[in-house]
Amino acid sequence: MNVRDTEHMIAELGKHQSYETTQNMEDADLIVINTCSVREKPVAKLFSELGNYNKKKKDGAKIGVTGCTASHLGGDIIKRAPYVDFVVGARNISKISQAVEKKGTVEIDINNDETTYEFADFRQSSYRCSVNISLGCDKSCTFCIVPATRGDEISIPTEIIIKEIEKSVKNGAKEVFLLGQNVNNYGKNFSDKRDKSTFTKLLQDISKIDGLERIRFTSPHPLHMDDEFLQEFASNPKICKQIHVPLQAGNDKVLKEMRRGYTKKWFLNRCEKIRNMVPNVRISTDIIVAFPGETDEEFRDTIDVVEKVKFESIFNFKYSPRPHTPAENMPNQIEDKVATKRLQEVIDLHKSHQDEHMEKYLGTTMKVMFEDLKPNGEIFGFSDNYCQVFVTGSEELLGKIVDVKITKANRTSLKGEVVS
Ligand code: SF4
Repeated sequence: MNVRDTEHMIAELGKHQSYETTQNMEDADLIVINTCSVREKPVAKLFSELGNYNKKKKDGAKIGVTGCTASHLGGDIIKRAPYVDFVVGARNISKISQAVEKKGTVEIDINNDETTYEFADFRQSSYRCSVNISLGCDKSCTFCIVPATRGDEISIPTEIIIKEIEKSVKNGAKEVFLLGQNVNNYGKNFSDKRDKSTFTKLLQDISKIDGLERIRFTSPHPLHMDDEFLQEFASNPKICKQIHVPLQAGNDKVLKEMRRGYTKKWFLNRCEKIRNMVPNVRISTDIIVAFPGETDEEFRDTIDVVEKVKFESIFNFKYSPRPHTPAENMPNQIEDKVATKRLQEVIDLHKSHQDEHMEKYLGTTMKVMFEDLKPNGEIFGFSDNYCQVFVTGSEELLGKIVDVKITKANRTSLKGEVVS
């Protein structure tokens, strides 16, 4: 979502203020740091980066801080780093062009409604377009700062989403990446209360767009993975067969304390159903180890889920206390050495699953959409089920979807030869 927000800001600053992007920080008239606050480390890094940019920037260059850390620290950023010119929160990026004009601007209203704002157009990739389908989150997971930085969940009207995708397809996009904190909760709340839809209906509407070949989305919530949605995921040929199913923890007591709204049994049932309905599907997940109070025995349930589902990809982290969250003040915060040990156990188990999964692609043929060239003459892209695939080739392949025979399997990527 931050990548898409950055594209929106580049577009707005280009259209309304005539800024262009540069690769050299020393040439910049404006430096914008778009921040994340999901974990503690990037927040700490913000202030060291700001000091660094302030030393190196050219005279008179402005500095702005945007994104989720801007939302939650607001004016305190300017108090701590007075050379910062403006602060714009994740839900206020439509105001970036005005903010840049007035030193000291702080725009951090987390309930600002940007669902019908028509952003200027800029995309880093001409083959894949990322499109927001909702803003904010209506959940209240006790470890998560997002509802405090991106506000309540509101869906973007379907006609705006369709128009945006159609425009990108006309400009060469073959794939759309639908974005939202809980994409499959789409349609529960629009600014115009008369609007109604569901994520399944949205997927059906989008797949009717001529020239669009692939649909991806992130993140769905396990709670909203009803059978109707899974059926659409399995049967719609334009929907790529990769799905993120964020587990967080495997134990029911921990899940309840996290306020995730589902149980281990429900989670396992959804994953089993996905594997049965969709051959070659790849399932990724998020795991937080050492949530406050998680015992060694409770952690075994997380390992049990990893063993049973054998995820293709895991984003795993040690629990990190975040401000404005109930878990920050929960008793029994877990010692770092225990958290590190649990994290390592997840990582080691997952590595063996990754190897097992990747080896089965050897000798098979996959459809790959090529996206980028490497300086070493390799070009890479992604299969429908989101394996990263490298071949030796030229820029003629960029943006094309072609058959590739897999000749080598590494833990996180594949190598192959173009066969068509
Ligand atoms: S669903 Fe939970 S983890 Fe995801 S953004 Fe919302 S509060 Fe955060």
